[in-house]
This record gives sequence, structure tokens and C-alpha cells, in this order.
Amino acid sequence: MKNPFLPLKAVITDIKVETTDVRTYSLLLRDGEYKPEPGQFNMVGYPGVGEAPVSLSSIVYENRFQHTIKAVGRVTKFIERLTEGDEIFLRGPYGSSWPLKSAVGQDILLVAGGVGIAPMRPVIQEILSKRDSFGNITLIYGARRPDNILFKDECEVWQKDSTVFLTVDEVPSHMIWSYHIGLVTELLDKAAFHVEKTFAFLCGPEIMMRFVSRGLFLRGFLPSRVYVSFERRMKCGIGQCGHCQHGSQFVCKDGPVFLYKDVSRFPDSLL
Ligand SMILES: Cc1cc2nc3c(=O)[nH]c(=O)nc-3n(C[C@H](O)[C@H](O)[C@H](O)COP(=O)(O)OP(=O)(O)OC[C@H]3O[C@@H](n4cnc5c(N)ncnc54)[C@H](O)[C@@H]3O)c2cc1C
Repeated sequence: MKNPFLPLKAVITDIKVETTDVRTYSLLLRDGEYKPEPGQFNMVGYPGVGEAPVSLSSIVYENRFQHTIKAVGRVTKFIERLTEGDEIFLRGPYGSSWPLKSAVGQDILLVAGGVGIAPMRPVIQEILSKRDSFGNITLIYGARRPDNILFKDECEVWQKDSTVFLTVDEVPSHMIWSYHIGLVTELLDKAAFHVEKTFAFLCGPEIMMRFVSRGLFLRGFLPSRVYVSFERRMKCGIGQCGHCQHGSQFVCKDGPVFLYKDVSRFPDSLL
């Protein structure tokens, strides 16, 4: 039987510095066939250092894909010091994915906060590669400051085939910002959507997802159409260790993409 804890080796082919503490790593997996769905994650790490769950931030093409990682602690700060040509170790793909098959022919509203745009990017890439299969696409993306906005150039490209709203909490006096200033919830009224034919996918801080979900329900969204990507600390990634377990649900195995109504019941949830 194959050992599920045995990692695969990937080589870093390119590193793009997105912000002071966020980088996008282009990776090539030399062995195996790798077919993740948008929304799934890998356990990414290095022997002797540890592993961290990280969402795919791109679709996969011939075993090439990207991870966009904010350096916050032990594993992610170690990864930040790696350079092109270095190897990285990963296990996956794990977890549930965004329900894109159910959303064919429908409108999609994507709401992202901070690094929460990373797991949304493969959704956008997938939709744009099959643009005629979907209805209206709207992205509302918020970050703390203009220099925290990820994939800004791509947002401008996405705008050609979808509606993109950008917002920040604050704009320091030396920065130029021509988009909205304020919370992502303030933009819900600007985005015109038909609740009966729109799926909403949310990813970002739990408090943001709570207020956005409530805003959507007030506008008539059905609970069966609002999905969130839910982050929890996890160790094994495969439903064995119980670190991310809530009742009968494992965030690593049953999530990270859940219907909002399912995770809002978790005892420590802010949703
Ligand atoms: C399914 C999933 C997908 C994710 N995708 C991405 C991604 O695409 N890009 C990205 O940058 N990050 C992502 N994360 C978050 C990432 O896993 C954590 O930032 C990482 O585990 C931190 O590990 P570390 O060893 O660097 O930090 P540590 O040394 O473990 O901790 C550093 C600090 O961050 C806190 N922390 C660590 N992990 C979490 C967590 N999950 N929730 C709350 N606080 C935490 C710690 O309490 C501590 O304060 C994802 C998490 C999950 C569960």
C-alpha cells in the first residue's frame, strides 16, 4: 500500500514577489500524474522543518502549477528563503473543491479577502478558459492596503471578461489608488446579481466571510448557493490526526470548501 505521508518532490522554476511577505512559486512536479481541482490544497514543506496546508493558486498544466504563500511562521518563512532550482516537498492534492460543475451555466460571485484570493485564482482561470460555459462572473476583492493587493495586473485582464471590484481598508498618503476604499460588504450593492442563478464562493478572514454571507442572505441568496473556503490548523491533511476535526467533519477531508451553513455550526466558528 502507498504511504500517504510520503511527499512528492517539486522543483521551483520561478518565484514572483507579490508583496513584501507574499510570493508566488511556480512548481514542476517531476513524477506522477497530478490532477487537482480548483479549491484543493497541498501539504507543502521540507523535511526537518514541517508542513503547512497551502491552496493551489493556479490551474495545473502538465504537472506545472503555482502556490502563493504568505510568510507568517516556521514553514512559510523557510519556504520564503528558497530560490529557483530548489526543491520543495508536497503531499496532495487534498480536500474538497469549489463546485464548478454545478455552476456551469450559472452566474458566479467570488468574494476574496487578503491571501484568500489565492484559491480563487484557479477558479477564475478555469472559468476564463471555458468562458462560454458560465454566465456573469463578478469578483469582489479586498485587501488592507493597495500594496497588499495580489495579482493586480491579472485583475485588470480578468476585467475584460468579468466584473472586478477592488477595495482596500486604507490608502497611505504616498500611494495612488483609483478603486474603492472600505469593506468588501460595501460593494455587494454595486454588484448586480440574480440570486436565483448565482453561486457565491467566499475566501478570506472568517469575520469577512460571516458579514458577506449575512449580506448575501439578506439579499435573498439561498443557503445552498453560498460556499466558503474554511482555514483551520491541520497536521496530516488526510483526516487521520484530528487536529482540524469538528464533530464528524474534518476540515482537511470534508473541506476546505464547505457550504456556509455547514461550517457556521462549528463551535469555534466566527461564521
Ligand atoms: C486549506 C488551507 C489552505 C491554505 N492556503 C494558503 C495559501 O494559499 N497561502 C497562504 O499563504 N496560506 C494558506 N493557508 C494558511 C497556511 O497554512 C498557514 O499560514 C501556515 O500553516 C502557517 O504555517 P507556518 O509554519 O509558517 O506558521 P506557524 O509557525 O505555524 O504559525 C505562525 C503564526 O500563524 C498562526 N497560524 C498558522 N496557521 C494558521 C491557520 N491555519 N489559521 C490561523 N492561524 C494560523 C499561528 O498561530 C502563528 O501565530 C492555508 C491554510 C489552510 C488550512
